[in-house]
Amino acid sequence: MSRVLIIGAGGVSTVTVKKCARLPEHFDEIYLASRTVSKCEALQQECGADRVKGVFAVDADDAKQVAELIRKVQPDLVVNLALPYQDLPIMDACLETGVDYLDTANYEPKDEAKFEYSWQWAYQERFEKAGLMALLGSGFDPGVTNVYTAYAAKHYFDEIHYLDIVDCNGGDHGKAFATNFNPEINIREITQRGRYWENGEWKETDPLSVREDLDYQNIGVRASYLMFHEELESLVKHFPTLKRARFWMTFGEAYLTHLRVLEGIGMTSIAPIDFQGQQIVPLEFLKAVLPNPGSLSEGYEGQTCIGTYITGIKDGKEKTIFIYNNCDHHACHEEVGAQAVSYTTGVPAMIGAALMLSGTWKKPGVWNMEQFDPDPFMDMLNKHGLPWHVIECDSPFKK
Ligand code: NDP
Repeated sequence: MSRVLIIGAGGVSTVTVKKCARLPEHFDEIYLASRTVSKCEALQQECGADRVKGVFAVDADDAKQVAELIRKVQPDLVVNLALPYQDLPIMDACLETGVDYLDTANYEPKDEAKFEYSWQWAYQERFEKAGLMALLGSGFDPGVTNVYTAYAAKHYFDEIHYLDIVDCNGGDHGKAFATNFNPEINIREITQRGRYWENGEWKETDPLSVREDLDYQNIGVRASYLMFHEELESLVKHFPTLKRARFWMTFGEAYLTHLRVLEGIGMTSIAPIDFQGQQIVPLEFLKAVLPNPGSLSEGYEGQTCIGTYITGIKDGKEKTIFIYNNCDHHACHEEVGAQAVSYTTGVPAMIGAALMLSGTWKKPGVWNMEQFDPDPFMDMLNKHGLPWHVIECDSPFKK
């Protein structure tokens, strides 16, 4: 019997919970907890109390509260779909209670927008000694992009040299400005300096200052900007033959104009300010006035294309492949009432959880996705709504 406790009840969790609820062969019992319990109750109502067996309010910033909840529910696995700030308290609670852990985004301190795995990798020994497993970054990017890379390295190359991860949202939600996942986390990420790996070292660029116009399958040419993304850190560590690794994301002109204005007037700052006698963080206030990403799916048209270009050597010859998925916003809305960005994250979280619960991906310690056999994960992507394709390219990715 498998029992999963999912923490967080936002856009991504909505998809994971609904997908898990439809798969009793992988998830016998689902329990759901979040800061705002009414969101859990609404999801329980949609899925049925026979599938989501219990809902709870929890402040996951507090490891003690999480440990108490784990003791009550007795899950085999905790799936963390709250925010990156909660990664460490939830990992602490898992260690304290002896339960496996999974998340979709690396830990980030609230008072510093800093994206790196160091904090979570530091738990390796403690998880290993306790015979517990933590799977980090089981979303799309990070997540599926790591698995695509491992799949390419396993089946297509003797050695991989160049990696370019490309993330295009070719959709239109009709809003002047909205982010597709938690606005606070999203804006912290994209306003950072760009960073990529080349010849054994990290190179930095000004935020969104390097642009390439890239052609995306079934979408067309879109302006794409070089930025840092957390999977680059683990992939260059686990594939030391990589000479260069970069990440590109598309942004439209209107989006960038809004972002520039918001940044220019200080609305994206994470430094607290005094407002009418109390301290507020401008970015947290901005989040409160922006559309909830979970509400964007109605009328959202178009699709995403996320994939990895990989160049390497096979039988002494250089070649390049592109592995990718297209995901349609409207189809996701029809299936689970969510847009494609929540869907492309929520489904891999479900798949990672299923592979851990079945023992297919199971070893004590703290692991990134590319450290496991990619084949069962790739197989489940095809079966559960995120089919992928491989193209053999005529020439390497640009530059
Ligand atoms: P949302 O803001 O929609 O949902 C977050 C949920 O976490 C909300 O239900 C929120 O509760 C809850 N939460 C926040 N703080 C706490 C707390 N202290 N205790 C308990 N619950 C809390 O975010 P998303 O669903 O868009 O994103 C979820 C995660 O997925 C994020 O970590 C994000 O970075 C990650 N992500 C990963 C991607 C990938 O491809 N790997 C892509 C997209 C997102 P409340 O309702 O009270 O606010």
